Amino acid sequence: MSKNRVLIVDDDQSICRLIARMSDQQGVDSVIVNHAEFVESTYLDYQPTLIVMDMKMPMLDGVELLRMLEKQSCKAAIILISGIDKSVLQTTAHLGESMGLNIAGVLTKPMDIERMKILLAQQYEPITPGNTQTIKVTEDELAQAIRHNELVVCYQPQVYLETGELIAAEALVRWQHPEHGLLFPDTFITMAENRPELIKALTYKVLETVLKEDVERRARGVNLHFSVNLSAVLLNDLLLPDKIEALLARYQFGTERLLLEITENKVIQNPALTMDILLRLRLKNIRLSIDDFGTGFSSLVQLYHMPFNELKIDKSFIMKVMSDEEAASISRITTDLGHSLGLKVVAEGIDDQPCFDWLKKIGCDIGQGDFISTPLKGADFLAWVEKHHFPTS
Ligand code: C2E
Ligand code: CA
Ligand code: CA
Repeated sequence: MSKNRVLIVDDDQSICRLIARMSDQQGVDSVIVNHAEFVESTYLDYQPTLIVMDMKMPMLDGVELLRMLEKQSCKAAIILISGIDKSVLQTTAHLGESMGLNIAGVLTKPMDIERMKILLAQQYEPITPGNTQTIKVTEDELAQAIRHNELVVCYQPQVYLETGELIAAEALVRWQHPEHGLLFPDTFITMAENRPELIKALTYKVLETVLKEDVERRARGVNLHFSVNLSAVLLNDLLLPDKIEALLARYQFGTERLLLEITENKVIQNPALTMDILLRLRLKNIRLSIDDFGTGFSSLVQLYHMPFNELKIDKSFIMKVMSDEEAASISRITTDLGHSLGLKVVAEGIDDQPCFDWLKKIGCDIGQGDFISTPLKGADFLAWVEKHHFPTS
């Protein structure tokens, strides 16, 4: 049996046959089911790596099917297809994501065959280093990795969209695991966040690595701003602003060159304590960015009261601006919203030139994404900076 297996759930036999044929052409096994009763047992027996499903079938609807897959802790990629209204399809996809399912794409009927082919091909790509969901690591291993300097910081450049000028980079952690190779943060950050002392140790380690490596960059005349991800778990420590300030001073790193990214939905969990810490960071000239904007539920009023400098539109919208009208509208409105609140707006997840050009056209300020550069290890990042851009001060 092929390592890629597709489960096709649709009452429309012509669609099923078409998708099965496309899978076959790519050397991928497939199984077709069209009755509700068969789905659960087929799923368990077959263990698909991809599920292509119609949202609306006579005996079960897509939401019920998603719930069943959630119950099975399904890890397969899921492509949703339907003749129903596109916004309903998008909302269902969002619901699936909030259940922890891996929604790989949506397609409306009549089906765009080319898009389906692309979506399928994307799912059949060989396992990449980023595809590490199956690797299990323990908290103790991570604690040891932090002590033994196994964490590596990669830097992803951020440029002004208008001029292309390099302004900053986001620090993204990786774990150079002695057995599993390079692990991406999705393998270990959530686990670390469940143990506050672990995510604290990780965060300080990442920050200190950025500062240490910056000493060499500055010696080479490269003087950039850096963004570091701050897990909200750290926002319960009133001493955080002082600790960060002391660390920056030790490496003579100006506070205005650090920007802390905090995920939107985490900010509002303990507003009074959070506000105290955020304000004290701002008073020390450290800047703050609201990360993954659009995925949480912060209201305009909450946003208005929080002392942020920057808003990052979540990459799930940016990656779709050229193919999805709703994602484009959300990105445009969020850019305007950010500007009217006096914030710099960053788009992350820019994958290609058309997306870059579109964001520039709507007036978004700063861009980040694989089209500009993938995250690079320290030495590669420095070489990239020296080759592509003039350093800013
Ligand atoms: P994030 O903060 O939203 O970081 C951006 C993620 O999007 C990075 O993934 C980056 O590689 C990816 N990305 C950027 N542009 C593109 C693009 O054009 N295409 C694609 N496909 N991906 C793009 P990464 O490095 O795997 O990080 C995932 C998440 O892990 C981060 O999401 C952040 O939430 C968390 N994380 C990373 N480093 C740290 C850290 O030091 N501390 C904490 N607390 N969390 C971290
Ligand atoms: Ca971030
Ligand atoms: Ca983000």
